Amino acid sequence: MVVGGGPAGAAAAAARAEGLDVELLCAPRGFRPALGESLPPGTDRLLHDIFGASMLNHQQHRASFGNRSAWGTADVEATQFVDNPFGHGWHVDRPALDESLLDRLRTLGVRVRSGARVAGQEWTDDQWRICLNDHPGTAIRARAIVDATGRGARIARSQGARRRRLDRLVAAYWMLIIADAGDDDCTTLVEAVPDGWWYTTPVPGHRRVVAFLTDSDLMPPRVARTGPDWHERLAHAPHIRDRLASSGSRLYSSPVILDAAVAHLDHPAGCGWVAAGDAAVSFDPLSSQGILTALMMGHGAGHAVAAVLTRADQQPLIRWGAEYARLLEAHLRLQAAYYALVRRWPTAPFWARRQNGNCRRM
Ligand SMILES: Cc1cc2nc3c(=O)[nH]c(=O)nc-3n(C[C@H](O)[C@H](O)[C@H](O)COP(=O)(O)OP(=O)(O)OC[C@H]3O[C@@H](n4cnc5c(N)ncnc54)[C@H](O)[C@@H]3O)c2cc1C
Repeated sequence: MVVGGGPAGAAAAAARAEGLDVELLCAPRGFRPALGESLPPGTDRLLHDIFGASMLNHQQHRASFGNRSAWGTADVEATQFVDNPFGHGWHVDRPALDESLLDRLRTLGVRVRSGARVAGQEWTDDQWRICLNDHPGTAIRARAIVDATGRGARIARSQGARRRRLDRLVAAYWMLIIADAGDDDCTTLVEAVPDGWWYTTPVPGHRRVVAFLTDSDLMPPRVARTGPDWHERLAHAPHIRDRLASSGSRLYSSPVILDAAVAHLDHPAGCGWVAAGDAAVSFDPLSSQGILTALMMGHGAGHAVAAVLTRADQQPLIRWGAEYARLLEAHLRLQAAYYALVRRWPTAPFWARRQNGNCRRM
């Protein structure tokens, strides 16, 4: 059983083994946005390897040709994907991508139950009894669960796993309609400011994501989070402000505030369950690696569970756990190195906390 219909859950379900009956349960799409619109070069190849088909097309998604950032200095530097051996990246319509992965699973023989939120589960007699919120009287049985419920880590936490936060990063997030239908920008723009950083990315369907990342204690209070307040704050991020202006978009509404901290479970697997994707380890959005890692590690989790169920072989699960620990360590080193590049505001709390690889001491 896989719980969660994001990239990690879909990739886990795609690893189904011969003779195993796999079902995926996915909660209805709520009011919170499905996050992640930038995919780095190479993600299309990984998707093809996992799902056995091309999952990204130019009708639904847009090619991305690089990133631009005003980071260590106020000037914008560009990184082009033109030299990347994996080719270009993508700016995706995330709900459409998730839907197409679930459709693909159906053709692969996975039973996908959309609109099914797990409301409770119990592990007894070597199997799970799972209750759904819209069918309170019915219980589904399963021999194992892949918890791919995202940062909530719904199943793992119900089994006593604890989520360890390594920083306090939060995001103020907007999905804007853009007036300039001809906006042909195909890059993500990142800009550091004294109390954090901003990014903006074009999204298919004449939309644009804008987000401001800071620590939870530095986020303006709710009363100061109106459209005009944010518009004023953009004075600190002139490149983002100009990009929005030239695409005809404006911060006219209050943002959604989202958890964006680096966090991990104290143990990513237990009796009858394995966590994958953000449920197991969630990364700093600066890396744009969340979806790629969720796909890779979700698929690994699916194979590891299949090995346990079909051959009583624990080795793939042990290797998978070690790989997750290694990825987190590598991510933390990279994160510390990137933040250490910004030395423009040494006394500003956001950056002072991140100097000398100190991202974690908060
Ligand atoms: C501000 C921000 C920007 C980001 N931008 C990027 C980016 O540009 N590129 C990138 O690669 N990554 C980005 N990320 C990270 C990315 O969003 C995640 O790493 C990725 O979505 C993880 O996939 P997942 O499948 O583990 O979890 P999710 O995508 O969160 O999916 C979890 C799924 O579980 C379902 N679910 C939850 N509870 C239940 C339940 N009880 N029963 C049934 N189903 C349930 C949800 O409905 C959802 O479908 C960003 C993150 C943040 C915070």
